[in-house]
Amino acid sequence: MKVLKFGGTSVGTSERLKALMPIVNKDEPIIVVLSAMAGTTNSLFEIAENLRKDKKQIAEKIIQKLEENYSQIVSKLFKSETFLKKGNELILSHFNYIKSFTKKSFTIHQEKAILAQGELLSTALFHFLLEEEKIQSILLPALNFMRIDRGAEPDEYYIQENLKRELQKYPNEKLFITQGYICRNAFGEIDNLKRGGSDYTASLIGAAINADEVQIWTDIDGFHNGDPRYVDNTSVIRELSFEEAAELAYFGAKILHPSSVRPCKDLGIPVRLKNTMNSSDEGTIIKSTSNGKEIKAIAAKDNITTIKIKSGRMLLAYGFLRKVFEVFEIYKTPVDVITTSEVAVSVTIDNCDHLGCIRDELSRYGTVEVVEDQSIICVVGDFIAERKGLARRIFNALADIPIRMISYGGSDHNVTLLVKQDDKVKALQLLNENLFTNE
Ligand code: ADP
Ligand code: ASP
Ligand code: MG
Repeated sequence: MKVLKFGGTSVGTSERLKALMPIVNKDEPIIVVLSAMAGTTNSLFEIAENLRKDKKQIAEKIIQKLEENYSQIVSKLFKSETFLKKGNELILSHFNYIKSFTKKSFTIHQEKAILAQGELLSTALFHFLLEEEKIQSILLPALNFMRIDRGAEPDEYYIQENLKRELQKYPNEKLFITQGYICRNAFGEIDNLKRGGSDYTASLIGAAINADEVQIWTDIDGFHNGDPRYVDNTSVIRELSFEEAAELAYFGAKILHPSSVRPCKDLGIPVRLKNTMNSSDEGTIIKSTSNGKEIKAIAAKDNITTIKIKSGRMLLAYGFLRKVFEVFEIYKTPVDVITTSEVAVSVTIDNCDHLGCIRDELSRYGTVEVVEDQSIICVVGDFIAERKGLARRIFNALADIPIRMISYGGSDHNVTLLVKQDDKVKALQLLNENLFTNE
């Protein structure tokens, strides 16, 4: 069985939804995971935010505009009166539900319920479309099997057991559709896997059913060696290892949700990135091993804060680093990059929710310096010690950019640098020109 996930642009218009039919209508068994139509989750966020701030009229306007968009989509999507009626009724019920929140006081759980409407709509519309075209499919409600635990991590045992139970109800079916992104939490309330989370849903489903392959269909022909949003002349990479892809996704390559590689990596399930607008292209394959090109790709992540703890007395003493890291553990704040010297340790974080408390606690161990608005640049490739000169090429390329931290040797496949956020685009362009274009 394969899992095919289609992102927002791939389901973004009635034409795009229709174009998916030949891709999913195959003889082999498939689970299709859909995102919300492009722009919908952003609008739902705006609606929720305005309701939270008690700006009901603004929320109502956004709801009305979104509802009109969906009415237009329905009018272009279906041919028959029966399905036009079904589509319109579907929209009415979802938008009446969203509107019901403008009439009562607003809580965080309601926000999550609003955010879930995008994926519920896209999957229901696609299911109707297949039905109208007489392509048999089953709509599996993700809220019946996708679940996160108390720590907001996927409950993989629950997902596996409950998805299997759902699938067993339909032993003779081969085409299933479900929602990406949405899930329930440990208390049974509607929740989600964070922005871009449909990739994660696909990977978790792939692992739960031990799929032959997980395919992430998007608006670009695979994983590029640089971020096409900031750099011209990037090119597609045909093969990546799980480690390389995970590193790039975690450090900002938007094409994949940061956590989405891990479930497939654990079971060795290949992940293929494909372009919905160019479906015959092979795309990028992510698997256990990859061909060993020296430097493969560069990604960057913004909104990074560095924290430096300086203490001449304590660094050489046993347990100094443990005490420092315990502070981050207590405040559930992951540390990304670490560098140390004899008198100081610097770390980066991207979640500043508890920055004040972290700073206060760390000051017990030394002088604390915080710098905000930094970017991590992650260069991924094959950096095994024998390959000389790779680091020199990176630093030559960045000769004119001030670098605040460097992490090299933590693994065989990445070098991580920290620059000011304002220097990020320039740094990415210089690296692309010097490492790839002039090759
Ligand atoms: P979807 O809605 O299908 O999930 P996303 O917008 O989340 O699509 O991801 C695809 C986008 O990721 C591309 O359009 C591209 O702009 C961006 N992107 C960032 N880094 C990369 C990269 N290294 N390779 C390919 N695309 C990238
Ligand atoms: N619709 C969600 C979002 O926009 C999830 C996704 O598209 O992956 O973040
Ligand atoms: Mg995405």
